[in-house]
Amino acid sequence: MSFDMDFIKQKIAALKKEIPSHVKLIAVSKTKPNEAISEAMEAGQLDFGENKVQELQQKFETLPKEINWHYIGHLQRNKVKYLVDFVHLIHGVDSLKLLKEINKRGEKANRKVPILLQMHIAEESTKFGLDQKELEEILNFDLDKDFPNIAFRGMMGMATNTENKTQVTKEFKGIRKTFEETAKQIDGFTELSIGMTNDYKIAIDEGATMIRIGSAIFGERNY
Ligand SMILES: *Cc1c(COP(=O)(O)O)cnc(C)c1O
Repeated sequence: MSFDMDFIKQKIAALKKEIPSHVKLIAVSKTKPNEAISEAMEAGQLDFGENKVQELQQKFETLPKEINWHYIGHLQRNKVKYLVDFVHLIHGVDSLKLLKEINKRGEKANRKVPILLQMHIAEESTKFGLDQKELEEILNFDLDKDFPNIAFRGMMGMATNTENKTQVTKEFKGIRKTFEETAKQIDGFTELSIGMTNDYKIAIDEGATMIRIGSAIFGERNY
């Protein structure tokens, strides 16, 4: 396989120049080899996103420990134990059951595990995330007391995959509103992870503090 390594470095440098300093760039390295991640690191990138537990584990074991690993996929409860010790931030917490499992495993690992609550904001029903009712159910708990091993850091969402910018803007405005209301109730609830290659500019305009960029950095993925 041939990789244009300079391409990766250049893309990262260009994105870092383009995005405001309060927005964290997460390089989504799923399906890409360690060499691509090492190249991104040479451009100063330390935050990487993965969506498969086994792939994340392998990369964690073989790449430098200074990397901040973001888990951005749908997380099955029986796999929480494999990443709870080292994961920097779990973006996709989309059910109360998953939250309980992360809390339980966090206690065993003697860690307060940083997470984002994932909201369902897209039209596609195949995308994961909480609806308003499920969010309320979670917020009705005494979070400090009932989830002592969870650090609630903010919210994550994926917009509809569409060229329709009005639609995407509407979805990001919606999650931002929910995020700001929720932030009033939780200390340290400061991160809004929205925006991918095709919609990150809109996301930044709509208040993103984290964007998750894959193909614009590493090129198209071949599955
Ligand atoms: C793959 C993925 C991304 C990155 O997608 P690109 O369109 O390649 O930037 C971002 N967020 C999530 C949750 C993903 O699964």
